[in-house]
Amino acid sequence: MIHISSKLPSGDTTIFTEMSALAQQYQAINLGQGFPDFDPPTDLIRCVQETTAMHHHQYAPMAGDKSLRAIISQKIESLYGSSFDPISEITITAGATQALFTAITAFIRSGDEVIIFEPAYDSYRPSIILAGGITVPYTLYAPDFNIDWDNLKRLITDKTKMIIINTPNNPTATVFNAQDWKKLDEILTGTQIIVLSDEVYEHLIFDGCPHESVLKYPHLRDRSMAVFSFGKTFHCTGWKIGYCVGSEYLMQEFRKVHQWNVFSVNSILQKALATYMADPQSYQNIAKFYEVKRDYFRQILADTSFKPLDVQGTFFQLCDYSAYSDMDDRSFAKNMVIHHGVAAIPLSPFYNHENEGTLIRFCFAKSTELLDQAAKKLRNIH
Ligand code: PMP
Ligand code: GLN
Repeated sequence: MIHISSKLPSGDTTIFTEMSALAQQYQAINLGQGFPDFDPPTDLIRCVQETTAMHHHQYAPMAGDKSLRAIISQKIESLYGSSFDPISEITITAGATQALFTAITAFIRSGDEVIIFEPAYDSYRPSIILAGGITVPYTLYAPDFNIDWDNLKRLITDKTKMIIINTPNNPTATVFNAQDWKKLDEILTGTQIIVLSDEVYEHLIFDGCPHESVLKYPHLRDRSMAVFSFGKTFHCTGWKIGYCVGSEYLMQEFRKVHQWNVFSVNSILQKALATYMADPQSYQNIAKFYEVKRDYFRQILADTSFKPLDVQGTFFQLCDYSAYSDMDDRSFAKNMVIHHGVAAIPLSPFYNHENEGTLIRFCFAKSTELLDQAAKKLRNIH
């Protein structure tokens, strides 16, 4: 072996991979990794089948299928009231993970600082490290995970290049409101900081609350890129397809990296999604669908000693397990798989520092049958 110096020395496999493997090993019900156990809508599957017979088997355009980009542009206009040019301001990506990685790579240089909120989705930090950047975490505290904007402001230095927002948030299940964006705008005015807004759960938002996309805010438009995922919206996380939206001058830089990173994305899925999404109803009832699941899962939890936190969006439910145990969260989650047959995700991997909290994350994007089976097992924990 030759000597190599790892660029990600502390990079273990992700907690999602780890817990899914453990769930499989012990044949546990997997409420850990965030994926639905049901199929995408039948009409979407039909669109994919029909498209497969239509000779769209060669490279799609580098920035994405034009009809899909046009549909996305219309969707943004109707939902967020802002206009983005499908030709120059929207790019189709191989999932949100690639869009985030590409955006970070395009703008972050060695020594640049990137502010993230912790607990944070696990791909942000390694992407920043690989770009040579420095992660500057702002820690949010349960149960509300509120942001103190004055404190946040203190993290900004002349090296700050980017701030990553995630709303609805994985794992906290909280959402940004108009006031949050206003505060962020005030803090960023006069700086050269880019906002990277991860909005993969844009349609999973509850209690009649509208999704506050960064794309709604004209003041932030010039400094922002927003990232979305069809995987979350249409129950097809395995398809790995998403998109990035941002002003032309930012998108130009994004595409410079995108073309060397993946060049272009699965041609058939792009055409099929364009056909399916031509009807806005395709994405209009998703919130209601998941709200029913959220309420059902919370009803199940009412018969246990788990203390559920509020869920404003996403398909995740955070729970405090301290009534059961004073174990650390990783041990508790592993123990639950091995001895009680249910997998969840501990929160520690979402932090860079020691986490002494007693929270785990359940995914409720599951059939009623599976949730019922999980309920029996959860009720048996003492
Ligand atoms: N951001 C967040 C907050 C997520 O939860 C996920 C997981 N789906 C992603 C990005 C990645 O999305 P994709 O599977 O489309 O790469
Ligand atoms: N986003 C999913 C989650 O939070 C997992 C994606 C992955 O496994 N990389 O559970």
